[in-house]
Amino acid sequence: MPEGDTIFRTARNLGRALVGKPVTAFRSTFPWLVRFNDDTPIAGQTVDKVEARGKWLLVHFSGGGILASHLLMNGSWHIYRRGEPWQLAHIHMRIVIENDEYQAVGFRVPVAEMHTVQSLARNRRIPRPETDVLNPVFNAAAALERLMARGGDAIADALLDQSVVAGVGNVFKSEICFVNGLNPFRAVASLTRDEAAAMIATAQRLLRANVLEDWGDTIVTYRGQQRRTTHASDPGESLWVYGRPGEPCRRCGEPIRRRIQGLDARVTFWCPQCQPMPDGSDVDGSQ
Ligand SMILES: [Zn+2]
Repeated sequence: MPEGDTIFRTARNLGRALVGKPVTAFRSTFPWLVRFNDDTPIAGQTVDKVEARGKWLLVHFSGGGILASHLLMNGSWHIYRRGEPWQLAHIHMRIVIENDEYQAVGFRVPVAEMHTVQSLARNRRIPRPETDVLNPVFNAAAALERLMARGGDAIADALLDQSVVAGVGNVFKSEICFVNGLNPFRAVASLTRDEAAAMIATAQRLLRANVLEDWGDTIVTYRGQQRRTTHASDPGESLWVYGRPGEPCRRCGEPIRRRIQGLDARVTFWCPQCQPMPDGSDVDGSQ
């Protein structure tokens, strides 16, 4: 599943192609978007803004409509110059937004909704801008309070909860815990406020570093001896622990461990040496 940094880069690219330009055509295979477009034609409007909210991508049209899409596992947005052939079959097309220069094509987008400012403000699934670690208005102090309120959860599960911090996905979850030397199975209640605040700060720092212009599409948290692994075929090449089970920890040499965690059965990676479990700190308080 794309993490917040991927959605952020997608929003940035779509924004460059679409913002400030009049839309010349809008098409979709979603009946409710077709209906909206019949009632309020999007062609002739301009795109005011494209933004990421956690894993949601929002396109704001000048007529007041806000197209919110979630890519889940397989969705993606491509940008083509006019006349350029698509890289995916037309049967996968869900949404097309065109202007004089570009076509933005949403392929296999599984979730798409048209909102107004009011319905967006009421929506509980689409994160507020201040909860998104990559948003300039991200409120770290409020995120700390939301995290501390999840005392009974394992910290890795709490990090994945988009209502706590929007944008962190499964890769960053393991990496954030490692960078802070915290065992991912520890209960949030066992953290000091400083430890919890450090996790939030790390989330912000790692995700931000991954939306710098020249880092490509691979998540990078580990750069070794200034080594750049922008397009490594093995995602673990650029990471501390994620995707590296059995391989030596980059800090201590201990084999990295892997375990399925949480109600959603997401995989977690950690170093038992660098991220020890203090007595009584797991979610049952039993260890
Ligand atoms: Zn280690």
